[in-house]
Amino acid sequence: MGQTLTEKILDDHLVEGDLEPGEEIGIEIDQVLTQDTTGTMVWLQFEALELDEVQTELAAQYCDHQTYQFDFKNTDDHRFLRSAAGTYGAYFSRPGNGICHNVHKENFAAPGKTMLGSDSHTPTPGGLGELAIGAGGLDVAVAMGGGPYFVEMPEVVNVRLEGELPEWASAKDLILEMLRRLSVKGGVGKVFEYTGPGVESLSVPERTTITNMGTELGATTSIFPTDDRTKDYLERQGRGDEYVELSADDDAEYADEIVVDLSDLEPLISTPSMPDNVVPVREVAGEDVEQVIVGSCTNGGYADILPAAKMVEGREIQKDLEMIVAPGSKQAGELLAREGWTAELMAAGVNVSESTCGPCIGIGHVPASDSVSVRTFNRNFEGRSGIENDSVYLCSPQVAAAAALKGEIVDPRDLAEELGDMESPGVELPDKYDGSKADIIEPDEAVDDELIKGPNIGDVPLKDPLGADIGGETLLKMEDNITTDHIIPATSDILKYRSNIDKLSEFTLSRVDETFAERAKASDHGILVAGENYGQGSSREHAAMCPMYLGVEAVLAQSFARIHKANLYNFGLLPLTIDAETYDRIEQGDHIEVVDDVAEAVRSGAEEFTIRVNDDWEATAAFDASEREREILAAGGKLTLTKQQYEED
Ligand code: SF4
Repeated sequence: MGQTLTEKILDDHLVEGDLEPGEEIGIEIDQVLTQDTTGTMVWLQFEALELDEVQTELAAQYCDHQTYQFDFKNTDDHRFLRSAAGTYGAYFSRPGNGICHNVHKENFAAPGKTMLGSDSHTPTPGGLGELAIGAGGLDVAVAMGGGPYFVEMPEVVNVRLEGELPEWASAKDLILEMLRRLSVKGGVGKVFEYTGPGVESLSVPERTTITNMGTELGATTSIFPTDDRTKDYLERQGRGDEYVELSADDDAEYADEIVVDLSDLEPLISTPSMPDNVVPVREVAGEDVEQVIVGSCTNGGYADILPAAKMVEGREIQKDLEMIVAPGSKQAGELLAREGWTAELMAAGVNVSESTCGPCIGIGHVPASDSVSVRTFNRNFEGRSGIENDSVYLCSPQVAAAAALKGEIVDPRDLAEELGDMESPGVELPDKYDGSKADIIEPDEAVDDELIKGPNIGDVPLKDPLGADIGGETLLKMEDNITTDHIIPATSDILKYRSNIDKLSEFTLSRVDETFAERAKASDHGILVAGENYGQGSSREHAAMCPMYLGVEAVLAQSFARIHKANLYNFGLLPLTIDAETYDRIEQGDHIEVVDDVAEAVRSGAEEFTIRVNDDWEATAAFDASEREREILAAGGKLTLTKQQYEED
């Protein structure tokens, strides 16, 4: 039987396990990417591993989320990141040079390679045939040290594209259509592999818009085969020699098939406040708009901004709104400026911003209260734009520019008819992506050879190996669906402490109980109790690290979110599953003791533990860890274990 493209790349990089869906596999990682809000912890963990240099073919550190540096802590983080890249041999992309996914795609992404990144939109270069997966910072640090990355073998789904996009429809509409059909949970445990005759009609920037937003489907990653379009893109980037032809075998078998006829697509829009609330633009036409933003890692490239620039050229945007263009990379911004498009945008009344994530996470350009913001981004979760009860719509650059010209949401086909002289701008690539590389510091140009830590940069907390006794006070009893945002909020006033666990831990679970951190510190040993789906949301490893730092030893929940459970193992916390009756009987403040010799039981494969509550009653708690997870837990966490393994080698 033939292989899918995903299986071929995984097979080439497989170091442990079999390619059976649901089985854990270990793969070798070629490239690593980190950004500024997750990167500080990645490098602090790398430092703790006591390695001299990066072991992967390539590692790149970007500064994109907090580029406005409105607090010295952000600037210190950027300086630390530059020093870490220089010390350990990674590429460093300066603040303002662009969003990690855009800059990586332009400079480093290559067909057939594996990539691990500490950012959820890491799958973006799948549009170039790279197999790229987002992960927690510790997994990235370990991969950068040469260790394999472990992941559950996903199911591979064939997304067969037919036809060609009609005028005014775009790649964004294709991924919005996927979200409309499958929902934000539709890709969990899956890789979306795009195939079929429609593929060749899409340029690489269009393909990467689709793979970028596969993350919103919950997919492990998304990937396109390579072809003349890929070769052409790499040649225009001056990297034609990195082209490799890749595709699935003709007789490859997929877990499922989805067919999309591109010629059926029309302009779509995601309405507030979930990316899968997708409707045709015409259904919400007439909604007043006060802000329009074109940019982000989804639609911030030259080929994304040019259509918007062509549409506003020689016109003016409406007086009662603001339009911002934030190029996803300086390369895109520089090319648009050289060709005169920046001047056209400015003349039309558009603000051209520096290359940053900024407004995507509520840092700058926060919408006015009770207003509609139309953005070309990938996420519109409530509050993400920086204001509660926001009203953010997601769409293509064409739909965004149309809204700026009309002052309300409008299908660009209807606006074109109304104006009479506006043509569908299509997608164009520059002859050559010849932007300056001044903002990328290569490893052999490093300006630092030792780590520079400002006062806000702390140490990585390490945990002792698992002991025989685990027990303590029930510090907090929580309801169902506690998110990683509840555990460690991601607002910008807290985000700046991501490299300072001592300070960050003060905010642990503060959204549930403001006094939690104080009580946890005072009690030293503690237990958390929760209902169903504990730890849902992001892969934020701080949500496990901070409770561990405060002395939490075990989490008893009715069920756990998958990634958070992995993070609990990674930071040496014991996750135990309890039934509804046990959950109901436990009260906050109860003393809970795990009766068995925990370390011994974990090592010897125990699948349940007895817990004793207040020396009064007992219950059974389930424990279902893989052999690898048991080893991690027994060692006191993945960092300690990896360190030991490196020392033994
Ligand atoms: Fe994340 Fe938004 Fe930045 Fe993309 S632009 S990396 S989604 S913050």
